[in-house]
Amino acid sequence: MKTTCFALSLAAALLAPATYSQSPTSEQRELREIYKELVEINTTDSVGSCTDAANALAAHLKAAGLPAQDVQVIVPPGGPKKGNLVARYRGAGAKKPIMLLGHLDVVEAKREDWQRDPFKLVEENGYFYARGASDDKSMVAVFTANLVRYRREGYRPERDLILVATCDEEIIPSKFSGIVYLLEKHRGLIDAEFALNEGGAALLDKSGKYQRMTIQAGEKVFQTYQLEVTNPGGHSSLPVKDNAIYHLAGGLARLGAFDFPFKLSATTRAYFEAMSRIETAQTAADMKAILRDPPDAEAIARLAASPINNSTFRTTCVATMLDAGHATNALPQRARAIVNCRILPGEPVDEVQRTLLRVLADDKISVTPTHEPTLSPPPPLTPEIVGPVEKLSAQMWPGVPVVPTLLAGATDGRFTINAGIPTYGVSGMFRDPDGSGVHGLNERIRVRTMYEGQEFLYRLVKLYAGGK
Ligand SMILES: [Zn+2]
Repeated sequence: MKTTCFALSLAAALLAPATYSQSPTSEQRELREIYKELVEINTTDSVGSCTDAANALAAHLKAAGLPAQDVQVIVPPGGPKKGNLVARYRGAGAKKPIMLLGHLDVVEAKREDWQRDPFKLVEENGYFYARGASDDKSMVAVFTANLVRYRREGYRPERDLILVATCDEEIIPSKFSGIVYLLEKHRGLIDAEFALNEGGAALLDKSGKYQRMTIQAGEKVFQTYQLEVTNPGGHSSLPVKDNAIYHLAGGLARLGAFDFPFKLSATTRAYFEAMSRIETAQTAADMKAILRDPPDAEAIARLAASPINNSTFRTTCVATMLDAGHATNALPQRARAIVNCRILPGEPVDEVQRTLLRVLADDKISVTPTHEPTLSPPPPLTPEIVGPVEKLSAQMWPGVPVVPTLLAGATDGRFTINAGIPTYGVSGMFRDPDGSGVHGLNERIRVRTMYEGQEFLYRLVKLYAGGK
């Protein structure tokens, strides 16, 4: 423990610019205050309240001078603690608004498992620690603080900026999903030409150096299937070959050995192009080799050993749950499995089910989707979107490549994209390569990262929104 702490503080001392850790600017202090208040409001599903968090942010925006009618806390019926914040910063109305999207809720955190209280903002060794320190209260606090700052500076954009801070992003599925509720019931209030969202976690390398700036364009489609085999069963002293468990297990073994076809999109092609310049040796060569036509099959196989590469260039389906039999001394009458698929954006979902049936190759195994998919075509990486990110990134982090990514997981972005609002994950906040404890223990973000993200988003939104 001691060595870790020492190593961390040493690394922080070597890398954190003194201006951030020693004398924060007034804007940084203002952000820190909003951020502290936000992470110290528990917004877990079990005992927390998004409504309290939404109200706290609303108070800051109104105190800064945003008209009360432009700052709304919207609470869905039946979910008094599931409030969402929608705040409109008025521009000249020359173009459709930009949505600044983030989520208020956080994953559960048990005090006894954490080194520090997860619902107190602790600054230590150049890091902020708290549940939500990174996911996603950093971005929500930054968006809020930046609107306060714009207001004070008298900034008048050419288009409206809409801050949308939602509840229940972390709960899948949730009947109180804030973004689903807002899209269904208050579309006019949040409608935008495009949205900026979490999910674009830029990366530091192990030594704390900037590895890559990231813009996330697209999320895989989440689809779960139930596999089932039924059988008349019988006494286990008189077994027969036709056994529900063996049928299912045989099919699952075939699925385990199967790979969905390799496929690149504009986003993932750009990802591997950029990564081939960051990676070295065999990995770099392999990334170049899969970009050729036809792609190199051996390179694909080598790269697929990395779950990140593999999930980037193909649809995946994996068995996640099993349930079979009803007694130790009876032949199974039923065997079930859950298979969770992450489908490349743009791939027909029906085709995945047909592929599963073909690979399971046993007509005793039925395959049934457990829910309707939320389709999520990849948002286009246009020069209007990417240009400002590249320009700003080159100013703030010269020489650090901007890498487009596809998210294998899921955020609120899949709903906004599905609703026709292209959504991009971009924050200018560089994460540690170990994942920074997001969804896990001792979640953290570097102090300098927080303030760099603040400055990056302050300037990026202005580049997109124009005006003075
Ligand atoms: Zn999140």
